Amino acid sequence: MTTPCIVTCAVTGSLPQKKDNPAVPVTPSEQIESTHEAFEAGATLVHLHVRQDDGSATSSPERFAMVQEGIRRHCPGIIIQFSTGGRSGAGRERGAHLALMPDMASLATGSVNFPTRVYDNPPDLVDWLAGEMRERGIKPEVEAFDLSMIFQAARMQADGRIPGSLHVQFVMGIQNAMPVDRRVFEFYVETLKRLSPQATFTGAGIGRHALEVARWSMELGGHARTGMEDNVRLDRDTLAPSNAALVRQVVQQMPEFGRRPATVAEARALLGLPPVSE
Ligand code: MG
Repeated sequence: MTTPCIVTCAVTGSLPQKKDNPAVPVTPSEQIESTHEAFEAGATLVHLHVRQDDGSATSSPERFAMVQEGIRRHCPGIIIQFSTGGRSGAGRERGAHLALMPDMASLATGSVNFPTRVYDNPPDLVDWLAGEMRERGIKPEVEAFDLSMIFQAARMQADGRIPGSLHVQFVMGIQNAMPVDRRVFEFYVETLKRLSPQATFTGAGIGRHALEVARWSMELGGHARTGMEDNVRLDRDTLAPSNAALVRQVVQQMPEFGRRPATVAEARALLGLPPVSE
């Protein structure tokens, strides 16, 4: 019996992505509706950024609260994960929304170059964000942009800064960071399993190779991420009409790898999260 696959949907991209595909949801009501469709298509984890109505970045906890409340109402049991990435502000602003107690939050365990800037994650900020999550029982999703970040996550687990089992997302395809590379992906998986045998992982490909990375991850026993934050196309010639269409595209690959989408109860159990509360 193979492990059911948790499909993460990263529903909202940045302003340039909205220009590339007008179907990218931006307002809270658009985000809630788009998440609901993705949930019905098989997504059990939603990764969230919030934006102003004009699409520009904001870290507004009020916005996060509106979106979280709507998603909890319409998608019972879905795992809600907030981004603590640099688009959500600077320094400790990046953790202001953790007071809203999402199920999970992203945690980059090191710094990396992005297309036009440094994604700056100094050690004291990483520890502070991890501490905010720990205090509130929020499970981190470690965002690994290179190998050192996997080692750092394992160190943080070993010394208690990250309690429980590790969940790591391998991110490939961001310009100036780690490219989409199968041998590196396999080495990531092997290294994570060596350092932390109980760890779970997800493959996240950014841009046109998004589906390929999701397929690698499903093949190697991991979980899959898709969504308009990462990629706005179904293929080179076709814009994705919705986040749900991207989720369906991933779900359609699963039989090839003997996988099926996890239910919310299974997804929560796999990640060591509390069961759905009614
Ligand atoms: Mg993100």
